Amino acid sequence: MQVWKFGGTSVGKPERMQSIRQLITEDGMPKIVVLSALSGSTNTLLSISESIIALQLQEAKEKAATLRAHYDNFIKELYATEQGLHKGQEILNKEFGLIDQLIATAPYTSKQEKEMVALGELLSTQIFEAYLQEEGVDSYLLPALDFMVIDEDNEPILSQIELNLAKVMEPVKNKQIFITQGFICRNPAGEIDNLKRGGSDYTASLIGGAIQAEEVQIWTDIDGMHNNDPRIVKNTFPIRELSFAEAAELAYFGAKILHPSTITPAKMKGVPVRLKNTMEPSAFGTLISEKSTDVEIKAIAAKDNITAIYIHSTRMLNAYGFLKRVFEIFEKYKTPVDMITTSEVSVSVTIDQTTHLDAIMTELREFAELEDPDMDQVIVCIVGNFWADKAGIAIKVLNAMKNIPIRMISYGASEHNISLLVDAKQKNDALNALNEGLF
Ligand code: ASP
Ligand code: MG
Repeated sequence: MQVWKFGGTSVGKPERMQSIRQLITEDGMPKIVVLSALSGSTNTLLSISESIIALQLQEAKEKAATLRAHYDNFIKELYATEQGLHKGQEILNKEFGLIDQLIATAPYTSKQEKEMVALGELLSTQIFEAYLQEEGVDSYLLPALDFMVIDEDNEPILSQIELNLAKVMEPVKNKQIFITQGFICRNPAGEIDNLKRGGSDYTASLIGGAIQAEEVQIWTDIDGMHNNDPRIVKNTFPIRELSFAEAAELAYFGAKILHPSTITPAKMKGVPVRLKNTMEPSAFGTLISEKSTDVEIKAIAAKDNITAIYIHSTRMLNAYGFLKRVFEIFEKYKTPVDMITTSEVSVSVTIDQTTHLDAIMTELREFAELEDPDMDQVIVCIVGNFWADKAGIAIKVLNAMKNIPIRMISYGASEHNISLLVDAKQKNDALNALNEGLF
């Protein structure tokens, strides 16, 4: 069995949904199809939420009405029969009824907000399933809320997902096409929750891991992962093959095409992930698997909104335990550290979640001297195969960067990543300079 995931633009227009129907059925192979919300829907649902939180209920109702009109037009174009259209209207009546109820709910808390934002995927999947029924496809809608679960730390529980999925699929195991929602899940309280923005990719990989799928395919609107950011650099090209380790680095350090956690479950279970382009299905795309190649420099990615914190030990040289104390504070505030560099008495780290920055700084000051943090930094990450016994790679990177100030360098932590910290103002220049120097 394969798991295929389609993103928002791939389902965002009636004709796109129609071509997806063609794509998923033409090879005659059974699959689980994970859908995102129609493009723009998640943002609109969040914006309705914002209006409710600001007590602008009239504004919330207007936004909901505009969204409803969009869906009304969508289903009119999608379905060919009266019956299909009727089914589509029933789905809209039910889900937009829920939006109305949520607008009227007080107090409106994060629980309601998560119910609101889940409606995007609930709508897209039901609309698509009704279309498949109209077209006579042997399909079945598997509700993600019946099997996708996360723990107290918002981490998916793969073993439980595996059990749940086996249970819900058992009575319908002979179906050809299974449709399910990306992104949404249940938390330990049994409430509707989600896997964070862009989480549908993660859903697909979790399902792929849970059923030991032959392959997970992520269908988007670009022909695979590119060697650099195509929005900033001209003449980028798709990378045909990446190892799990390389893909994980790229996704984590900013390649927008993939949710950063996607690689983990696939890697754990050895399930290959293929990135494909809905607009050009015959293009090879990118294959991510256990296999590594010997290409030296594969790709460059950049992660924005990074804050650098500079910490100096107030204790004497050779003291031990200093790093432990530093990292305990980040652990306490559940703030991940991305990059770290050290000297004898100093350590610099970067973070991308600044919610607890003040508290972290206050606690660090109890035993360290701090400089003012640098906000608005960017981690530029070069991914490839940088074996420890190979000479000459760092010089290429630094040579390419010779006109751009670098704040931090991290090399040698993994054989697949060199990270550089630069000011956001230098980002575009850095990506272009590296492109020129390295490819
Ligand atoms: N609809 C969700 C979002 O826009 C999840 C996804 O598309 O992956 O973030
Ligand atoms: Mg996405």
